[in-house]
Amino acid sequence: MNNVCQCHLIDWSGKNGKYIHISSGTTYDSQKHGALDCQTKVKEGSLNYSEYFKTCKYIPGDPKSHFPNASEKIKKVIIPRFEEGIPPISEKLFK
Ligand SMILES: [Zn+2]
Repeated sequence: MNNVCQCHLIDWSGKNGKYIHISSGTTYDSQKHGALDCQTKVKEGSLNYSEYFKTCKYIPGDPKSHFPNASEKIKKVIIPRFEEGIPPISEKLFK
């Protein structure tokens, strides 16, 4: 399923400028691990932008995003873990 956000499989805190593929503990590489993050899926054409904005929970700069850089100023806040069973963001937010 391409229209499910899998960005939680990657540690986006970007220590040393690298993002970590959590289950292997190595630097995330879409060539090696497959296209897990939504932005790579968009680049590869398996996800379109409207799906991206609807499904991705890690959109950089989105105030509701789990992407850590979006909350640079509040570094003390623990990044919320991926929550199962949360429905996709309502389409109303993007109109
Ligand atoms: Zn995503």
